[in-house]
Amino acid sequence: MIVFDLHCKGGHRFEGWFGSAKDFVSQKKRGLLSCPTCGNGSIEKGLSAPRLNMGAQEPKQLKQVPARKTPDMEGKDPFAVAQILYSRMLDEILAKSEDVGAQFPEEARKIYYNESPGRAIRGQATQEEHDALVDEGIPVARFPVPRSDRLN
Ligand SMILES: [Zn+2]
Repeated sequence: MIVFDLHCKGGHRFEGWFGSAKDFVSQKKRGLLSCPTCGNGSIEKGLSAPRLNMGAQEPKQLKQVPARKTPDMEGKDPFAVAQILYSRMLDEILAKSEDVGAQFPEEARKIYYNESPGRAIRGQATQEEHDALVDEGIPVARFPVPRSDRLN
């Protein structure tokens, strides 16, 4: 609520309570305002600054509720969101794995057979190399990598 000091043409002063400053303008335009003392419909807003009625207490700082969605996904189409999620997952993989490049199939095999320290690795493998790893039961995953993030 907002309180305005109003006065009529006859000089009577009174308070008007409105939902907003726009309400005052709209009610005035529609001729809904009149002086409670003389009924004069020519009402003006006083020069005094409007007082905001926020209740007895000082307005509390609104607590930021953690958004369920990440803001940058808001309003994006599902395809775009999937791309964002995919690119984040890729970043995670890139950050947490060791790049062994073309040694990938060999290194993956060594790790699997405990000939190399166990760790997350990434690198390139041909289709044949990939299939061979899978055939041996070695857990590998293929990810299409955008050109700009090319693993090398
Ligand atoms: Zn009046």
